[in-house]
Amino acid sequence: MTFLILSDIHGNREALEAVLAHAQGRYDQILCLGDLVGYGADPNFAVDWARANAAAIIRGNHDREVSQGASLDLYRQEARDGILWTRQALSADNLDYLSQMPQGPLAHEGFTLVHGSPLDEDAYLVKPADVAPALPHLKTQLTFFGHTHVQGGFVAAEAAVAAIDPACALEIRPEDRYLVNPGSVGQPRDGNWRAAYALYSPEGQRVEFARVPYNVGPTAEKIVLAGMPATLAARLLMGM
Ligand code: ZN
Repeated sequence: MTFLILSDIHGNREALEAVLAHAQGRYDQILCLGDLVGYGADPNFAVDWARANAAAIIRGNHDREVSQGASLDLYRQEARDGILWTRQALSADNLDYLSQMPQGPLAHEGFTLVHGSPLDEDAYLVKPADVAPALPHLKTQLTFFGHTHVQGGFVAAEAAVAAIDPACALEIRPEDRYLVNPGSVGQPRDGNWRAAYALYSPEGQRVEFARVPYNVGPTAEKIVLAGMPATLAARLLMGM
């Protein structure tokens, strides 16, 4: 069994299609870590696709805010504009689906799915020090998370927490615990604009990271044409 782990698709149709083509034939089940929408110009495509294809899914903060958010005061202007645009663009049926997505942590096949951290779906695990408070709350050896849009994650050995290098495949060792981030499909922020994903094979105790180039220009243009902030288009091109 191999799992295709996707996070933070954010309504980016072209990135999602590129990832699916790249991973084709290499996985048995698709798992999603939230943020299907927000920022991108194709939210209905992303939600329709997830409804038809994800074996397990949890909501992200954007899925929550788009479908049931009351106050958006905590969000930067461009994020707020993206959420408001997405809300009016989504079909009533897809809004309803988003409002009912389960909140993580979600146990699945012996590992765990969360959006932000195991403690808080809105928390960002950016550096090893952010991970320490979450460690006592890990229910399984392996947890997948998203939200930061940075591929890699963290390994907690007995002595210390260290960042995982996504340039190499990750071998899961029985004595360590892992918080693994597949990266963002639709809006990477690790300085690499290519769409990110991960494949996990429990039999091989191995996680593989991948980056997929796609035709990002027209995707960025669609964001501007939709009337969303140009900064959202610009950051796609930079991967920031
Ligand atoms: Zn996100």
